[in-house]
Amino acid sequence: MGFASLGLHQDILNQVNELGYNTPTPIQRAAIPAVLIGKDVMAGAQTGTGKTAAFALPLLHRIQHNKSTNQAQCIQVLVLTPTRELAQQVHASFVKYGQNLSIRSVVAYGGASINVQLDALQQGCDVLVATPGRLLELIMKNLIDVSTLQTLVLDEADRMLDMGFIIDIQRILKNLPQTRQTLFFSATFNDDIFALSKTLLKDPQLIEV
Ligand code: AMP
Repeated sequence: MGFASLGLHQDILNQVNELGYNTPTPIQRAAIPAVLIGKDVMAGAQTGTGKTAAFALPLLHRIQHNKSTNQAQCIQVLVLTPTRELAQQVHASFVKYGQNLSIRSVVAYGGASINVQLDALQQGCDVLVATPGRLLELIMKNLIDVSTLQTLVLDEADRMLDMGFIIDIQRILKNLPQTRQTLFFSATFNDDIFALSKTLLKDPQLIEV
């Protein structure tokens, strides 16, 4: 089965084709249709399984769809990652997969100039990829508006908990709209991960690859 049957926008399919992706990976086959219809997802997936495209492709589709129906063009998708390196990679993936679309992705992480990141945000931002500490700083200083958020993605949730980000994450969550889609990705599962996922997900589609 190829990408064409998954329901993605033609401009996204063209880009996937251009990148030489012929067949969706198992996590992509399972996650893309669920994300497209707005379902919450809880996925167990290691790096290298194609997990980034599994959420980025259908979320780009949804943003593009919202744009064509004239909805607000502000932060619609927020991806939280444990490290700046992963944040940069995920941001680069949104840029790469969305090359044929007029969708803006911005990346924000600590240890770098907040003013440069604010400049980027002010030029328009559909997708924000951020590490928890810097995002919390932006929220607490009232520097960003997350009230238009439609989808929250937690990428490598287990590493975020291992790195001690739980308090930051809980404070961030208090500031996000309650009505939203949430996608939860983790390579490993333990009691803390299940407890966090329970507070976040409504009737999620469970995916294990
Ligand atoms: P990830 O697991 O998201 O870190 O992706 C691992 C690598 O697989 C990345 O370099 C992607 O460019 C590549 N990739 C993702 N999906 C596919 C696919 N369906 N076919 C071929 N390569 C892919």
